[in-house]
Amino acid sequence: MNTEKKESIYKNIQDAIAKAGEELGFSKETINNITHPYKVIDISVMVPELGKEVDMYRVQFNNALGPYKGGIRFHPDVDLDEVKTLAITMMLKCSLVGIPLGGAKGGATINPRDYNDKEIEGVARAWARSMSDYIGVDQDIPAPDVNTNGQTMSYMLDEYEKTVGRSEPGVITGKPLELGGSKGRTEATSQGGVYSLLKILEFKPELAGERKVVIQGFGNVGSYAATILADEGFRIVGISDSKGAIYKDSGFDVHAIQEAKQEKRISLHELFNDNEDVQKISNEELLIQSCDILIPAALENQITEDNAADIQASLILELANNPTSTKADEILEKNNIILVPDFLANAGGVTVSYFEWVQNRQQYYWSAKEVDDRLHSIMVAATEKVYALSQKEDISLRTAGFKIAVERVAKAAELRGNK
Ligand code: NAD
Repeated sequence: MNTEKKESIYKNIQDAIAKAGEELGFSKETINNITHPYKVIDISVMVPELGKEVDMYRVQFNNALGPYKGGIRFHPDVDLDEVKTLAITMMLKCSLVGIPLGGAKGGATINPRDYNDKEIEGVARAWARSMSDYIGVDQDIPAPDVNTNGQTMSYMLDEYEKTVGRSEPGVITGKPLELGGSKGRTEATSQGGVYSLLKILEFKPELAGERKVVIQGFGNVGSYAATILADEGFRIVGISDSKGAIYKDSGFDVHAIQEAKQEKRISLHELFNDNEDVQKISNEELLIQSCDILIPAALENQITEDNAADIQASLILELANNPTSTKADEILEKNNIILVPDFLANAGGVTVSYFEWVQNRQQYYWSAKEVDDRLHSIMVAATEKVYALSQKEDISLRTAGFKIAVERVAKAAELRGNK
């Protein structure tokens, strides 16, 4: 995505926060405080394993509610504007679901496909080493995002602990269980999104239609969303990865596809090479296929003014961050398509990251059921709150979400004297 588009997503979120803040009666100073990052780390770091420098970022957006929190993305398109956009979204997310954490995000500008495992480990260690002054269990707690996972977090934890010379498992979340990870973290974003979706469908059952679901992206978030929804009785008719999409009106066996993808590490198009039942289409085509529920779970800016009018779904669950442009939002609203916004729909990830951090601090670990029950109650409460406000004020779920999120974080900033 080009820089101009990223800047405009960031600016649109700043504007939406400012609008909500003004309507809620907060001062210009408070609004300024929550629309600009507290600290920006933008460095070029030598990675010995690559024999070259890599651009690395951490944007610590706001910690009025608690330590900074947010994932780390490895992707060739990562730049400061993207990280700022993701960091401001993290602030909203933590505020909306009511957890005591602030917003941050990080990244490294590399294409992981160009490197082997040892080289990726080098990038992860270099990131943790060079950010060690800025992160910490009471300071800033990173986690995985696109192209990073439990293994990446393990290298980062190890490098950080070597650098600071003490054990500090709560400095990073999304770790494997053996290193202090939480049960339920891997599928938390998807599970939380499903809890939110089911709640909305309780309020508006007609939106479920024939329970046909299209999911863009089949990574961590997309693949678990697919399997959890299939287990809930939904029909997953379309899925995709970065190489392309597949569609089959009778639905896919997504459990088998998830297993095959993990085992063979091949694209969906390759997996269904000679299958005549399956339509092979592009990612652009996937978004406008016939379905009841559309779930973007890949990258930002996928639903735009160019394709919004062609979307057939009656409900969109934004599991990716910032997948819908502001202009597209307006078109969807005009077409009565209900959209569950990213900072509500995908907040399950940071919620279970918060649980992981709590467990690390206590050195006492919860059962899968305890994690799931707590995730369920947080997601349901946040969804009910957003839905109730949207009904009361006749506004979209996104606008209602902005108001609730802004109120909590702005109040915290004010109490700290930032007014
Ligand atoms: P991932 O790297 O595991 O998976 C990304 C998926 O998207 C892969 O299947 C990839 O092939 C696909 N993809 C990449 N480029 C694409 C393109 N141009 N078109 C279609 N598909 C494409 O990442 P993830 O952790 O699943 O994250 C997906 C989204 O969810 C991101 O927006 C991320 O910020 C957001 N998110 C993730 C978490 C989490 O816990 N992992 C939490 C909140 C939000």
